[in-house]
Amino acid sequence: MTDQRLRVLVVMAHPDDAEILVGGTLLRLVAEGWAPGIITMTAGDCGSSEARTKEDISRIRYTEAVAAADSIGAWYACAGLADVEVFANAQSVRAVVELLRTFRPDVVITHSPADYMLDHEETSRIVRAAVFAAAVPLYQTRHAPPAKPVPSTPVLYYADAVEGMDSMGRRIHPNFYIDISDQMERKRTLVGHHASQRAWLRDHHGIDEYLSRMTEWAEAYGGECGVAHAEGLRQHRGHGYPHEARLQEALKPYVRIQGGEEYD
Ligand SMILES: [Zn+2]
Repeated sequence: MTDQRLRVLVVMAHPDDAEILVGGTLLRLVAEGWAPGIITMTAGDCGSSEARTKEDISRIRYTEAVAAADSIGAWYACAGLADVEVFANAQSVRAVVELLRTFRPDVVITHSPADYMLDHEETSRIVRAAVFAAAVPLYQTRHAPPAKPVPSTPVLYYADAVEGMDSMGRRIHPNFYIDISDQMERKRTLVGHHASQRAWLRDHHGIDEYLSRMTEWAEAYGGECGVAHAEGLRQHRGHGYPHEARLQEALKPYVRIQGGEEYD
């Protein structure tokens, strides 16, 4: 391969999750020369009012996901599952392992293991299994022809849960934050590619809150670590997964911890 850049792959449940939860971190990594990739488990086939068919909204949201990815030079793939039917099983793990072996990331970011919606939590489990399996030579995806196993297990991170809470309404605290203050305008543009979701929330809630809520969350996280806007992350540190702080080292000048201290 001629592309020697470090590679980050964000694997989320639905189109727009990657951009909303870690769009600023992705923009920072791109600015540092990393090659980005985004996978969504579904094409977002339930993300619309009744006026559209599943096929119509899937097509629209797939196109929006491609446009958002293109705007930052990211590779994009959809794992082909359906909304509300994302479950960790052999088939979903095989699909994600094949995509991991195709993109060959150094760092993977997925949903928090505890989140507001089961699609997100199941995606987190699928990715945890797939990251481990991607480097296991005897694990076969049954894809023809299969991509080669990756040489080493990628470093795994979890984004914040939506609104920073688990399904019981308990706060989940990040291990560290990325200061995205000067990426915020670009993050708004990136998230704005998902125009159908903005319209859906506007129809549903009667107010145009798609971008404003995302901005409020970034301000709240920023407030916890002493900057204007931030995103929160945790690193998976279980046995068998790399513990090196690859993302923290790559974005060292922008890493913050709670209370505003700098990372060292
Ligand atoms: Zn989602």
